[in-house]
Amino acid sequence: SKTHPAQPPSSLVPEEMPPISPRLLTDLLDHAAERHGNWPAIDFMGRKWTYAEVADLARKAARGLQDLGVKPGTRVGLCLPNTPYYVVCYFAILRIGGVVVNFNPLYTERELAHQVEDSGASVMIASDLAMSLPKIAPLVGKGTLSRVVVCPFADALPAIKRRAFQLLKRRDIVHEPHDLRFVRFADLIARDAEPDPVERSAHDLAVLQYTGGTTGVPKGAMLSHANLAANSAQMIAHVGHMPDQQERTLGVLPLFHVFALTTVLNYSVDTAAEMILLPRFEMKSFLATCRRTKPTQFFGVPTLYTALNGVSLHGEFDSVRVCISGGAPLPLEVRQRFEERTGVKVVEGYGLTEASPIIACNPLEGMVKANSCGPAFPGTSLEIRDPDNLHQVLGTGEKGEVCARGPQVMKGYWNRQEESDKTFIYGALRTGDVGYLDAEGYLFLVDRIKDLILCGGYNVYPRVIEDAIYEHPMVAEVIVIGVPDEYRGQSPKAFVALHEGESLDEAALLEFLQPRLNKIEMPSAIEFRASLPKTLVGKLSKKDLVAEEAARRRP
Ligand code: AMP
Repeated sequence: SKTHPAQPPSSLVPEEMPPISPRLLTDLLDHAAERHGNWPAIDFMGRKWTYAEVADLARKAARGLQDLGVKPGTRVGLCLPNTPYYVVCYFAILRIGGVVVNFNPLYTERELAHQVEDSGASVMIASDLAMSLPKIAPLVGKGTLSRVVVCPFADALPAIKRRAFQLLKRRDIVHEPHDLRFVRFADLIARDAEPDPVERSAHDLAVLQYTGGTTGVPKGAMLSHANLAANSAQMIAHVGHMPDQQERTLGVLPLFHVFALTTVLNYSVDTAAEMILLPRFEMKSFLATCRRTKPTQFFGVPTLYTALNGVSLHGEFDSVRVCISGGAPLPLEVRQRFEERTGVKVVEGYGLTEASPIIACNPLEGMVKANSCGPAFPGTSLEIRDPDNLHQVLGTGEKGEVCARGPQVMKGYWNRQEESDKTFIYGALRTGDVGYLDAEGYLFLVDRIKDLILCGGYNVYPRVIEDAIYEHPMVAEVIVIGVPDEYRGQSPKAFVALHEGESLDEAALLEFLQPRLNKIEMPSAIEFRASLPKTLVGKLSKKDLVAEEAARRRP
């Protein structure tokens, strides 16, 4: 018998789905515009754009980008909050064979510089917000970046625009408003001409999506048109879709993050849904937008559900049919509390940047299992591999590294052959997450491999401890990390934020945990904080706490 089969059997039969044919992402927009041109595509602070208008603007912007020298394969940065500009420019870049490089507008100047350099972006499309332009301006002319297209927010946010200009002026970057050496968005679309046709394939690179920001140096996951379009097709297969009824997607997650890129943008366009775009998360205006627009679908990260559990609701979610949580583990208590308060079921999914991103999701109808991310997404297969011997596929209930195959899985990392090779095993994507599959193919994630705590020779999973602490009704958020321990190598330390107005001390929490955890899992220290650090997309972030602990221990 062969011990190293070239293509070992996967431990889960993929959910039935006809083969997904590769599509260009611009086809999603073209089809929506052809079939439902007069349907609203975007609602931005009450202003609306139809599908026909968005397609037309994207065509004009494509022409403008070609005039700036964008050719097939040219990397074009998008550094924008959720706005119509994002949607228009995204499709404009893709229409002429360009590659979208997503930038988080909250990046520091250094992070921006790293990503510009790594991706080799030659054009950047950014807002004139004070948080973006002053950081981007100094990069122009250095390295590859030669042009910046500036999208004004004068309509919505005149005050911020004024401030941005004053800031640039103070830094001697511009002197007069028209001095911005940059191309204004209005000029980009001014020629109103057809872009030159270019040859494209659905297997071309569409988006460079940087990941690894919370650990190590960010690297660009290469997602093709076919990868991203497949994840949208899989969404449709999973969620269902009524072609004659328009859905309304509440888009508060940032589009520069792949979870929103697929759910709020690609999947919404694929189904000709209306995208309700919010440029930032602010609770009062978020709730007001819900009441005004009556969304039917909502995609959020767990911290958003936690935040919503902390405010009084007045029927804001009554119109919502689908709520999906992803990006990080959704604590059972958070899910149950949200469901009780709104009467809307929250379905947890699981994915990662490298898989465009969704690879597993609980069913909308049918069994949702507590603490499971559900079965493999349609057309996806999952396998669990022995972390100590990756050639070995493990059986039901055995914990190992979750690996995935499917049309949504990336080609590799941009300019990083060695890391790309290490990320695949017999063609399956290694997720870096530890989990197991039950007899019905439901995936249970245990933790990230890199977050494992090695405690006296045992593997301790911080998530097990976090889940136990979340059971305490006063606890709002918790992060557990490993800290150096003289006797055991490492031991778990918990950082806890309580719900407003609650008070709890270490001894009482430890007593609560006593029956819920074994001896090695019991935290060696608990620190209470008013709030816990989050990544720029709102996931709880261990990185800062790990760094703080390391700094504290340095002599
Ligand atoms: P990113 O590529 O930055 O979006 O991060 C992907 C990682 O987020 C995965 O590898 C998981 O560790 C984590 N993740 C995403 N969804 C879930 C989930 N439902 N439960 C637990 N972890 C998750």
